[in-house]
Amino acid sequence: MMSDSTLASHFQTVGHPGVLFGHLENAYDVEVNGDPWEVLNLWSWTIPGKGFPADYCMRRKVSAVSATKDAVKATPLKCGRVQCPNCYEWWMSERVFETSVKVMAYSRVHDQTPLAISVSEHPDTVVDYTWKDYQNSFVRMYRRMKRRNIVGGYRIFHPYRIQMRYQNEMREMGYADGSQGFWKGVRENVLGLPSWYYYLELGPHLHVIGFSDWVDECNDKDIVIRNYSTLDTVNDVVGHIRYLLTHCGILADEDTSKPTMPWGSMHRFKMEDHLTPDQIWQIKREVAEAMGVSYNQIKDKIEVKREEPEEEDPYDWIPLYQFKVYSQISEENTNAYLAWKIGTPEGDYINDIIMRYLAVIDDDDLPQSERHVFLQDLGDPPDTLTIVYDDEVDQ
Ligand SMILES: [Zn+2]
Repeated sequence: MMSDSTLASHFQTVGHPGVLFGHLENAYDVEVNGDPWEVLNLWSWTIPGKGFPADYCMRRKVSAVSATKDAVKATPLKCGRVQCPNCYEWWMSERVFETSVKVMAYSRVHDQTPLAISVSEHPDTVVDYTWKDYQNSFVRMYRRMKRRNIVGGYRIFHPYRIQMRYQNEMREMGYADGSQGFWKGVRENVLGLPSWYYYLELGPHLHVIGFSDWVDECNDKDIVIRNYSTLDTVNDVVGHIRYLLTHCGILADEDTSKPTMPWGSMHRFKMEDHLTPDQIWQIKREVAEAMGVSYNQIKDKIEVKREEPEEEDPYDWIPLYQFKVYSQISEENTNAYLAWKIGTPEGDYINDIIMRYLAVIDDDDLPQSERHVFLQDLGDPPDTLTIVYDDEVDQ
């Protein structure tokens, strides 16, 4: 759960919201009585990209040295966390890919069109919504869907709704509900409110990319189910999931949130049991294409598409991690490289980097994020050395 210091930093960030929110008093009480999360409030969650970067995020590390020992490559280290403003978009892309591939595979195997369904707590029930309510709510929603013939799918949890009056104001400014809609306005704070939380009210609901031959809509007193469209193409699936992820609920201090979760028949579905490797590869390529990224079949992951043919790189790079391998397998290579150009400013500078690297790379006392050589920790490079700044995503 959220620690006191996290809570304090949230208040510093969002400012004092005044009397806008009904649950505010609870939020302050809890710091005093030591039982903060009996009743959940707006600050119990955040959305992707609205938290803080890790302190090491975007710090430049040396990732490679040139074989000619006259250049080093400096690459930003990214924290890859969902809260991080630098990292969340790529974080979303990976979730969109993984989820869309499975949805498309399921859709082809069962010859069923994915449906966009929403399952909401009735607004009247979301009063003094507790941690326990939150957990129970999932169970009840799954059960209710099953009863209404939705056999399984992926769910994405949304804790919030945008207050009607701000929806209206944004609509007047030309924002529309949908993919480039209100949430973009909230994220960018287009109305200039003290923080993006000001636009919102608590309204826990699930969005489900579900499968069913027919959906019985449900207007029970506690839970409302709506089937609002079919997702007919790969583009529809990708676009819908990406949009839903832009404002999914992330527990405020939780780095391992799983905002897309398979349930029911999707939970048991293993595409490898029904499709050939070629068919799966084809689906992955189609999904990547729809997302505007490349699928790397060897690494089995998506990569940023490089549109331009890359310029001829004048350097032959030796990744720093290879020195670890060299030192174990073939010490001679390392020694030859180290001995070469020794006593020259660039030779000594690079040797220093390699020695620092070997000293930290296997140090179990250091967190993974510290096992690098950071540019900022090195002295000024000599004039005879070139630093090549590389922007490749490295997580
Ligand atoms: Zn980051």
